[in-house]
Amino acid sequence: MSGGTRLVADAVLPCDGSGAVHRPGAVDIGPDGRIARVGPVAAPAGSTDDSGEWTVKWVGGLLMPGLVNAHCHSPMTLLRGQGEGLPLDRWLREVIWPREARVGGDDVFWGMSLAAAELLRYGVTTTVEMYFHDDRLAEAVDAAGSRCVITPAVVVAPGWERFGTWPERIEWIAGLRSRYSAHPRIEVGFGPHSAYALPDEAIAAVGEAARSLGAPVHIHVAESEHEGDEVSARHGGATVPQVLSDLGLFDVDRVLAAHAVWLTAKDVDLLASDGVAVAHCPGSNAKLASGTAGLTALLRAGIPVGLGTDGPASNNDLDLWEEMRLAALLARQRERDPTVLPAAEVLGLATVGGAAALGRSDIGALQPGRWADIVRLDLDDPGFVPVLSDGDLAAHAVWSASRAAVRDVWVAGRQVVADGECTTVDVAEARRRVQAAAEALAR
Ligand SMILES: [Zn+2]
Repeated sequence: MSGGTRLVADAVLPCDGSGAVHRPGAVDIGPDGRIARVGPVAAPAGSTDDSGEWTVKWVGGLLMPGLVNAHCHSPMTLLRGQGEGLPLDRWLREVIWPREARVGGDDVFWGMSLAAAELLRYGVTTTVEMYFHDDRLAEAVDAAGSRCVITPAVVVAPGWERFGTWPERIEWIAGLRSRYSAHPRIEVGFGPHSAYALPDEAIAAVGEAARSLGAPVHIHVAESEHEGDEVSARHGGATVPQVLSDLGLFDVDRVLAAHAVWLTAKDVDLLASDGVAVAHCPGSNAKLASGTAGLTALLRAGIPVGLGTDGPASNNDLDLWEEMRLAALLARQRERDPTVLPAAEVLGLATVGGAAALGRSDIGALQPGRWADIVRLDLDDPGFVPVLSDGDLAAHAVWSASRAAVRDVWVAGRQVVADGECTTVDVAEARRRVQAAAEALAR
């Protein structure tokens, strides 16, 4: 591969699991938008110097892979912070659901556009979305130049009749998936909301559809302590993961369970043996007082784990760096052990770990063959001083510099953030549209 762009930086953190750090380093982006080479700047001994074929750009700073937000409902920028402080059930019934019942396709487009600008500016290049009016959500992602696994929600609840019956919804999602089958940045899967929001037949049918199409499934599991009580009671006391497994949902190749806070030890074994991944959302879980997932137990069991912000109506931003810090802080507190979740490992959860949780080997690390989804951090940021060893880079990125240091972002080799500004979204227009929509929804 030749004829692309070579980004040369003070440091490169590939986050490929090898622990490698290149100082200085280079990342070659092929004309196809994928990474052709990652390594030290000097060509390795014995190889021919091919730098003449590449457009060399000295960018400086630190290059690392784009972050993967494994669980969110990004268009909820439309409802950000509304109903703040209410208990979960009142918040949903009095504030969120009545407004969501009136959210239209244009609202979702602008809510997602504003969210995409925020996500990209923080270095989050991939999100896993569960929402509705997903055709418009996809349009916003396409226009913003970000990457997305869109899993349209399947829910049986008041207000959802407007999207048809659940069998019609499954059909519609299958259609959207085929419409985007050749899109380089958008993949469509299924988002059965949860065991408690769907009849058993719907969950089984989603599992069947996902299996036959090879599509991923994304579902809320064990977020709050008693959400599954009714489901368990109907199934002779079986836990929600056992019920989902019995219904065949876990026979799908790629299943991503969001939250996974209230699991028994047997549930953890079940997720591991069924190959189910987890999107860990420590910020959302803490803010809604839902509990703290047993992150270290999940990792010890070999379960692929990514990090998620959840929706901005409740969390309230889309900053995955904060989730990294919370994941480590809460795990250390829970284990009373400051050695768990070292910075490089936390960074791994937000990048290559998130990709693995989505069952994707084409994103999440700076590695030849993967998409050139790249973030550049400014090493002049005060949070990056001092650097005395390679290990300081990951530690500073997670603990002190984080989102403030994000300067430039590329997705599939295309620059989408330049000098801290998102260049692909008309942010002023998106802000105006979301403000107007929020006012109308609140009336
Ligand atoms: Zn959620």
